[in-house]
Formats: sequence, C-alpha cells, structure tokens
Amino acid sequence: MRRISIFGSTGSIGCNTVDLVQRSPEEYSVVALTGGRNVAKLAEQAKALGAEIAVTAFEECGDALKDALAGTGIETAAGEAAVVAAAERPVDWVMSAIVGAAGLPPGLKALEHGGTLALANKESLVTAGPLLLETAEAHGARVLPVDSEHSAVFQGLVGEDIDAVERVIITASGGAFRDWPIERLKEATVAQASSHPNWAMGQRITIDSASLFNKALELIETHQFFGVDPERIEALIHPESLIHAMVGFRDGALMAHVGPPDMRHAIGYALHWPERRDLPVARLDFAEIGSMTFQAPDEARYPALALAREVMRQGGLTGAAFNAAKEAALDGFIGGRIGFLDMAGVVADVIEKMSGEGLGKAAITLDSVRHTDQMARRWADEFIEERQR
Ligand code: NDP
Repeated sequence: MRRISIFGSTGSIGCNTVDLVQRSPEEYSVVALTGGRNVAKLAEQAKALGAEIAVTAFEECGDALKDALAGTGIETAAGEAAVVAAAERPVDWVMSAIVGAAGLPPGLKALEHGGTLALANKESLVTAGPLLLETAEAHGARVLPVDSEHSAVFQGLVGEDIDAVERVIITASGGAFRDWPIERLKEATVAQASSHPNWAMGQRITIDSASLFNKALELIETHQFFGVDPERIEALIHPESLIHAMVGFRDGALMAHVGPPDMRHAIGYALHWPERRDLPVARLDFAEIGSMTFQAPDEARYPALALAREVMRQGGLTGAAFNAAKEAALDGFIGGRIGFLDMAGVVADVIEKMSGEGLGKAAITLDSVRHTDQMARRWADEFIEERQR
C-alpha cells in the first residue's frame, strides 16, 4: 500500500485528488489531510479515507474539527505549524494543493523524507523554485508537476533531451474577460471575474486566470521547473483549453498535449507516474470539436505577462515579491478596495519599489522568502491605500 498525504484536500485540486484516491482505496493508506476553513468537508474526507490525522491551518477552526471527528480515532490538529508538522510524517506521495505562499513550508518539509511531491501549488516554484528543487535533490525526492500546462510539458519531454528544446508554448483560455472590450475591464466585479469559461477551479486561481496573473505565474513556473530560458517560453491564447502546452524541438517538431479541461488527468498522471492508468476523464472527439483557435496575447490588456518577464529577468527573490504582491492585490480586489485593473498596477509598483533592494541577487532561503513576502505585502497594502485615497 502506498502511504499518501493531501495538503489542501478541501480545495478544488484536493477534492479531485480525493476523488481519484477513493476509486481504488485498497491501494492507499492515507496519512494526513489538511484544509483551511471548510472543516465539515475536511472531517467528511478524513472519515471516508480513514486518515491518520486531519489538520486545519487555522487555529480558530481547531475545536470544530475536533468535534466533527470525535469518537473516530482520527487525530486532529490546528494552525500553520501543525500543517508543517503533518508534513513530517513520512509518506510515499504528497499532493501539494494549498493555495498561495502558505503551500511552501509544508512542501519543503515533505521533501525531506524523499518520495514524490505532486506540485499543484505553483506559488512554491515562483517564490522559491531553486530552494524547492535543491531540497528535493538533496533528499532523493521527486517533484512532479500537476499544473495542467506543466504536466503537459513534462509529458512532452518524456524520452527527450532538454537541450533539444527550442521553445515551450503554454496556452491560456483568456479567462472570464477575454471577449470584453478593454475599456470595460476597470468595471469588472469579483463575481464576474470568479467565473471561468472552461475550468472549474478555486476562486483565487479563477480570478488570476481572468487577469492572466495565473499565466504569469506559469511562465515563471516553466522557467523554474524545466530550466528553459525565459525567451524560449511563450503564452498563447487558446479559448477552447484543449491543447494545454506544446514543446518545440530544434528539428522543428512540435509536440502538443491535448485533452479535456479536467484536472484529474494531470493529478492522475502524477499519482500513477511512471505508469499510465485508466482515468475518468472524457475522451475527445476531434470530428465533433471541428476546430481550435489561437491568438497572441495582447500585452496591453494583460500587463501580468510583461511583469512575469521582468521577474524572470531579475531572478532571486523577485518571484517571492511578485507572488506576495499579487496575493495582496487579489485580496484588495476581492475585498472591494481596488478595481480589477489596479491589481497589475499595484504589483508593478511593488516590484519597482523593491527592485532596488538587491532582490535579484539575494540567496533564497525559507527565511529570506518569508521576509520578502512580508515586505511585499506591506508595500502592496500601501499602494492599495494610495489608490483608495
Ligand atoms: P482552492 O481555493 O480551491 O483550495 C485551496 C486549499 O488550500 C483548500 O484546501 C483551502 O482550505 C486551503 N487553504 C486556504 N488557505 C490556506 C492557508 N492559509 N493555509 C493552508 N491551507 C489553506 O484552490 P485550488 O484547489 O484551486 O488551487 C490549489 C493550488 O493548486 C493553487 O496553488 C493553484 O494555483 C493550483 N492549481 C489549481 C488548479 C485548479 O484547477 N484548481 C489548476 C492548477 C494549479 P479551505 O477551502 O478548507 O479553506
């Protein structure tokens, strides 16, 4: 039996992972499940999977979780430190599906036991890619990508030499506002930004898809994970979301990964790797699909892409500042403090402000990432306030 843990089990990726695990329960022994405020869901999953321990990241939710699991024999714990402590329990496979920068500390801890870290939490790579990959190497652990685009690139590289890669193209649906005139974007509401045309995902990544901040994170993720030079990585608008990524080789061949927009494919690939197993995803009928369309992203409409290029150019801790500023700006938008278009402005201001602080050259440690994250959030709050005045 494989011992597994799922961090962020109550979210969109987490629930899809639970769904796959529940289809062959005899194969898995579930050690830890972690969630946030959705204690009822966490308790239900812990009972269904017979987990050893269920952990909520929020101390104030601890009593509710304890009550919900009373009499089951399942241990409970609460708080950020308890999430990291749960990652100390050795397992063969870990799903990292916490949203945001909070996913990094438990991911790093899990890597110390070797085994496989299935990484949905793209923020870990954006904020501390080299640290994460070096930790994996030092402990003989493996990181497998779960983001659909990166799983697609990973699959396109099987049996290939990375030096033969000429370019990597990751696709973007264009999000909720791809057909809106640019002048209307400043009026976009949180509810409108929270509805994705093709994918069912958590609210934060759905809004990041509308602003293309999600694609910006993914450009950086591609650079960090595969070591491909930034100038060889392109984003391409593909409204149907059927091709997830393409890898172009020096002989001109282009390998495209095509599949329905269902995260259970990428999760299942990482769960069963290096095998391929039957997965409950729809099979595509190309005759029915008929056509697929593509367009170059308009960088004026999506300033997040140019910001990602600047982050890759500067390197070091710039990714940590970028991600934290983006998270703070997103909170500002969700909380009604700034408009949709202000998010990119706030992030740009933070990057400009902090660039002079030697971010690009600083060493990446958990402490330096935390410090940069806090500074960037403080600056972002200041720039958000400025816009409110
Ligand atoms: P969701 O918002 O649906 O779920 C996030 C999970 O993290 C939930 O379990 C949530 O708990 C938990 N959580 C929230 N805040 C904290 C915190 N401060 N500390 C610890 N846990 C916390 O997100 P998604 O599943 O959509 O995304 C998860 C990650 O996967 C993100 O990094 C995202 O970018 C990435 N990803 C997602 C895709 C998707 O299709 N959804 C596709 C590719 C990548 P609770 O809900 O109980 O409060």
